[in-house]
Amino acid sequence: MRKPRAAVGSRSRCRKQASSQEGREKRALSSSQAKPSAPDACARTIPEFSEAPAGLARQQEEVRLQAPVSPYHLFRDTAEVTVFRKSLLSWYDREKRDLPWRKWVEGEVDLDRRAYAVWVSEVMLQQTQVATVINYYTRWMQEVNQLWAGLGYYSRGRRLQEGARKVVEELGGHMPRTAETLQRLLPGVGRYTSGAIASIAFGQATGVVDGNVVRVLCRVRAIGADPSSTLVSQQLWSLAQQLVEPARPGDFNQAAMELGATVCTPQRPLCSQCPVQSLCRARQRVEREQLSASRSLPGSRDVEECAPNTGQCQLCAPPTEPWDQTLGVANFPRKVSRRPPREECSATCVLEQPRALGDARILLVQRPNSGLLAGLWEFPCVTAEPSGQHQRKALLRELQSWVGPLPATRLRHLGQVFRMYEGQQPGTCKGSKRSQVSTLSRRKKPSAGQQVLDSFFRPHIPC
Ligand code: SF4
Ligand code: ZN
Repeated sequence: MRKPRAAVGSRSRCRKQASSQEGREKRALSSSQAKPSAPDACARTIPEFSEAPAGLARQQEEVRLQAPVSPYHLFRDTAEVTVFRKSLLSWYDREKRDLPWRKWVEGEVDLDRRAYAVWVSEVMLQQTQVATVINYYTRWMQEVNQLWAGLGYYSRGRRLQEGARKVVEELGGHMPRTAETLQRLLPGVGRYTSGAIASIAFGQATGVVDGNVVRVLCRVRAIGADPSSTLVSQQLWSLAQQLVEPARPGDFNQAAMELGATVCTPQRPLCSQCPVQSLCRARQRVEREQLSASRSLPGSRDVEECAPNTGQCQLCAPPTEPWDQTLGVANFPRKVSRRPPREECSATCVLEQPRALGDARILLVQRPNSGLLAGLWEFPCVTAEPSGQHQRKALLRELQSWVGPLPATRLRHLGQVFRMYEGQQPGTCKGSKRSQVSTLSRRKKPSAGQQVLDSFFRPHIPC
């Protein structure tokens, strides 16, 4: 059993704390064991890749990573790279969205302040969508207070604060100037964030790969293998590094992300408006497939095409996942199958102590410093046990350990909270969470876990 810290807060403060756990985050992809493609980029450890394969498995993995990549998934020559850069940047100059952090960065001559402005925007954008961030960002940069409330996923906010403190207290108020030093010296700054700060604020020619860039590159180079695999991740970082425009690295990286966010979207991408459509292998493949279908011919292969469906290419989709005509370019990137969700039940207690003039104090406890929602304050709770009788006893024991003797008959059922956490991978900017408060009557078929919770909260059962 964890040993939380306890505190009491006013009723309004508790409500703020409870609602603040809602939030969604933008997906970004980073690789841990992918070898840095740039001299200034170093790998960071990510949980799903952090365990090194042992013995034979490790040797096989190394052989796999060193295997030559088919030219079909690469950019052939510098001419092709130049066309890609020029097309993307001219489109960006014409179409880029007017976002507050861009103005802030452009107008800031102090490099440390500029880097801080990029840092805040990048961390917030990993948290949620652009539209939500705009308001928070402007207020944050003006007020610099606890505006993280409402954005959710506090560990990012906490790490940003720790990093800012380190810059002020240990680095003489100066931000590290390269992607490598940013990642090495600042807590919570990984490969993506360090590359974004270094390229946008300091003009370092280093590519970045976030969820939008993954989608664009997988489509442009027809990469159908699992984008979260080490091999594909390594290839994507390498492509990003090859493509980044040395004269305008910050603009190039933002342009690639913007293309993924506004044109090369997950569903219904706007290929006819895409500045790099002439280089896009996904689009070429769709056109070829459509042509074959209209002539009622079996799918013909382009002379340049890789070897899909043979299982010989590690960047093509495996033979078990053939081309889906209905998806078009959205055949790329490949959807990664998710692990089935784990269901857990916990009993939460809102312990209220009435005070004079209708006011009340409410007990809050602090979560452990690591793991889900680390260090946040919450209502006391215990993991629910299988039997209702045991659950009540466990909760009562826990409450009594915090506040002393407490009669079981005072427990009153208030309702249920269903919360879903998806794809939580600390440090990889992946995942989203949703929460919902509901009453029993709204749910027609409670799951087994919800039934356990219902019976636990049935009031007035003596212990
Ligand atoms: Fe994406 Fe379509 Fe552009 Fe290819 S042509 S990069 S699929 S929007
Ligand atoms: Zn291939």
